[in-house]
Amino acid sequence: MQDLTGYIHSYTTGSAYDGPGLRTVVWTTGCQFRCQYCHNPDTWHLKDGQPVQASELVNEVMRYAPFMRAGRGGVTVSGGEPLVQAPFVMEVLRGCRARGLHTALDTNGALGDRLSDEDLQEIDLVLLDIKSWDGATHRRVTGAEVDPVRRFAERLARLGRPMWVRFVLVPGLTDDPANMSGLARFVAGLQGVERVEILPFHQLGRGKWEARGLNYPLADTPAASREDVLAAAAVFQACGVSVSV
Ligand code: SF4
Repeated sequence: MQDLTGYIHSYTTGSAYDGPGLRTVVWTTGCQFRCQYCHNPDTWHLKDGQPVQASELVNEVMRYAPFMRAGRGGVTVSGGEPLVQAPFVMEVLRGCRARGLHTALDTNGALGDRLSDEDLQEIDLVLLDIKSWDGATHRRVTGAEVDPVRRFAERLARLGRPMWVRFVLVPGLTDDPANMSGLARFVAGLQGVERVEILPFHQLGRGKWEARGLNYPLADTPAASREDVLAAAAVFQACGVSVSV
């Protein structure tokens, strides 16, 4: 196979947040969403990244394989939106998996059609961010439609692929009970969902927006408190979905 060139922002070793166990996370550049709470506006444009060959990146990731294996982890490709560079990302995931690493893809799901069913068999876990259930809220949060995300979730479920669903709780933006219960009911009907996470909004991304001269739309929005998260978890639980908070 031809070695593909991709663009990455950076990679992190020893992450305990981006999938099970201890992970190496590759942050790709390029994203078609513009989430109001994005922590990584410096990954929005493909060319903001450094070019790298897939084989080179696989070799780099594999240097940390003993630690990842000892920590029952693996590699996670995140972003940006990794599927902007789907062929490159698949080559990296396939290369790592062929060498025995657990593979995860952290995605907003909207470009899921770029992956074949065979590709999906090479991904051990999909971390699927569903930014909102309600179409209007999803547009407001991300600037994009939710339908392709829903379709991708349903396809993963049909194929029996493991997934974790993640939802960012933003006071006054995504916390409408109807929005959350719609999402909870949808998730309750999906096979393969191993975990649902509610991630509380915080202000840590703000500096990056300001550094880039961007107007941060959530400058006046308070961080989600522990009570907010527990109240959201109760809405999910009332729909039969247990959540990790
Ligand atoms: S999908 Fe992720 S990287 Fe893209 S804008 Fe939203 S939060 Fe940022």
